[in-house]
Amino acid sequence: MTEIRNVIIIGSGPAGYTAALYTARANLRPLVIEGAESGGALMTTTDVENFPGFADGIMGPDLMDNMRKQAERFGAELLTDDVTKVELTGDVKTVWVGDTVFKAHAVILATGSAWRPLGVPGEKELLGHGVSACATCDGFFFKGQDIVVVGGGDSAMEEATFLTKFAESVTIVHRRDEFRASKIMADRALANPKIKVRWNSVVDEVLGEGKVSGVRLRDTVTGESETVPVTGVFVAIGHDPRSGLFSEQVDTDEGGYVLVEAPSTRTSLPGVFAAGDLVDHTYQQAITAAGTGCAAALDAERYVTAIE
Ligand code: FAD
Repeated sequence: MTEIRNVIIIGSGPAGYTAALYTARANLRPLVIEGAESGGALMTTTDVENFPGFADGIMGPDLMDNMRKQAERFGAELLTDDVTKVELTGDVKTVWVGDTVFKAHAVILATGSAWRPLGVPGEKELLGHGVSACATCDGFFFKGQDIVVVGGGDSAMEEATFLTKFAESVTIVHRRDEFRASKIMADRALANPKIKVRWNSVVDEVLGEGKVSGVRLRDTVTGESETVPVTGVFVAIGHDPRSGLFSEQVDTDEGGYVLVEAPSTRTSLPGVFAAGDLVDHTYQQAITAAGTGCAAALDAERYVTAIE
């Protein structure tokens, strides 16, 4: 018969590992199903300078390796594979990894959200070397530089406006002739003297050897291409929460983010908790993900204790 565990954690970013650390230290012997690639979003970046406790900064993969080891040290069990199916209703939850079945009283969902890439040559190769999906994380690295922000929604406006604190110039590249962003956000960006807009334009290629040196822009009306020299490319065309596995079981908002009874991490299903970027479309930082991972662990611990 399949063992019924206390808690299963799905995901191994800062939210998942922090939940693992706390539930492990509470003697719940959590199983962390990490995903086929462990460590989450920070595995794809270089310097992380805003995670407290690292005065000189730390490389993203090193930070995640530390978190993983810390959770393991207290007895978290790790499985590096993807969850393929879940059944989260009822007192005992079932989680499948292919044909292998796991059961638990509580489940913590921490599968994060994926930023939407442009999907153009050079973008992936230069990620962390001038290409970024997070102005809060990386703006500081672009002091006095010329950069582009790609997108036309609220987050693109917010990122562009924020980046003017550091950059010499910010060019918003937008494929249409008007922004999708709310008027107030768009007006604020357009009024900023450091911001220019390239309307009806798309990035066809990110250029550079080892670091970004420019972008190849195409005018969608005339079809003409032009190389624009910049050292930073901020991709701000949206995020997709990874909630597909369970969005028919727990309540989500219209964007697919899992809804929780804030300030707790309780979802619409008893015994199911959610943390990190899967829940949060506002902050999306490693430290906030770790914070809600901690909260989810404490919520799960109380839940498991109460049903014992
Ligand atoms: P994630 O880190 O996204 O982790 C999600 C986890 O879920 C992954 O382990 C994945 O494998 C797993 N998963 C997904 N599907 C399944 C499945 N079916 N089964 C099992 N597991 C699954 N934040 C900062 O604070 N500072 C920075 O400098 C910074 N730089 C960044 C640079 C880049 C390039 C990016 C993309 C993000 C950066 N961020 C930074 C943001 C930060 O990485 C995220 O806010 C944080 O990682 C979110 O943590 P999370 O645990 O919610 O999700």
